[in-house]
Amino acid sequence: MSRLLIADFMIKPRAVPEQACQLRGARILPYNFPVDDVLSLLEPCRVCPRECGACRLSGERGDCGVGRHAILSSYGPHFGEERVLVGRRGSGTVFFAGCNLSCIFCQNYEISHMRYGSPVSEEELALVFLEIQDMGCHNLNLVSPTHITPQIILALRMARERGLHLPVVWNSGGYERPETLRLLEGLVDIYMPDAKYSDNAVARELSGADDYWDFCRAALREMHRQVGDLVVEDGLAKRGLLVRHLVLPGGLSGTEKVVKFLAELSPDTFLNLMDQYYPCYLASARPPLDRRITPEEYSEALSAAKRYLRRVINH
Ligand code: SF4
Repeated sequence: MSRLLIADFMIKPRAVPEQACQLRGARILPYNFPVDDVLSLLEPCRVCPRECGACRLSGERGDCGVGRHAILSSYGPHFGEERVLVGRRGSGTVFFAGCNLSCIFCQNYEISHMRYGSPVSEEELALVFLEIQDMGCHNLNLVSPTHITPQIILALRMARERGLHLPVVWNSGGYERPETLRLLEGLVDIYMPDAKYSDNAVARELSGADDYWDFCRAALREMHRQVGDLVVEDGLAKRGLLVRHLVLPGGLSGTEKVVKFLAELSPDTFLNLMDQYYPCYLASARPPLDRRITPEEYSEALSAAKRYLRRVINH
C-alpha cells in the first residue's frame, strides 16, 4: 500500500454543517468550567486537541468516530499490564472504542478504528465500574478514554456515590487538552499516558496529529501537577504518573527528547520503556515500521532513559 493510500486512513479536518449545532463557536473552556455542565463540551465538541466541533449531543460523530454515548468494547481483569497495576488479582480494564489518534501501527485497531462494541449510558458505565470492583481487581483501568472524558466524569461520579473506591487509571494516548484534564482532578488517581513521539512531523505522518508533542507535553505537565510522581505501596501503584513509551524502529519515537522532557517534570517520573513493537494494521506499508526493533535500538533507548530517569521499567 502506498503512502497515499495510508493517508486515506488518517483523521483529517472535517466540515461540519453550520446549522447542525447551535452552540458552535463556544469553544473556549474557562478555568472554572462547571463539572455539572460537562456534557456541553460535546456540542460543539472541543474535548480533545482536535476540537473538531462535531455536534455529538445531536447525534453527530466526531473525528474520533464516537457520538453522544461511549462505546464499550469489553471489560474485566487483565494480567498483561504493568506489574504495579496487576498485582495478584489483575487490573480492571475497561476498553472503549474509537480514538482521537489514527496511528497506522495501531495494535488495537479493531477497537480503535473499527469501533467494535456497544453504546452505553453513563448509568450503565457506572455499573460496569462497580462490577470491576466486585471482581476484586486492584484498580479501574480506563483504556482509550480521552474522547469520552465528559461521559466518564459523570459515570465516575455516579459510581463513587455508590461506593467505588478503587484507584482510577487514565490509560490514554497522551493527545489531550490540559483544560479537559483539569476536570478530572480528584477523580483520577493514576495517569498512564503514552508519550509516543517527540516530533510533530512524525506524529502527523504516523498518527494524523500535527501538534501531538505540543499537547502531549502540556498534558503530561497537567497530569503531574495533579498527581505527582508514582507512589507504589506493597508492590501496587496507588497514585501518580506512569508514562509509557514504545520504542519504534529507526528512531521514529524520538526517545532521547521524550526522556529529557520527562526528567524536566521529575527525574523520578516512572517510565515503562516498551520493546514489544510489531508491525500491525497499516504499518507494513511504511518502512521501517514493517519490522520489529533491533536489540541495539532498544539498548540505545534504554541507555538514554537511564541517563535521565531513575525509575525505568521494561514491561
Ligand atoms: S473528542 Fe472526538 S469529537 Fe471531540 S474534538 Fe476530539 S475528535 Fe472531535
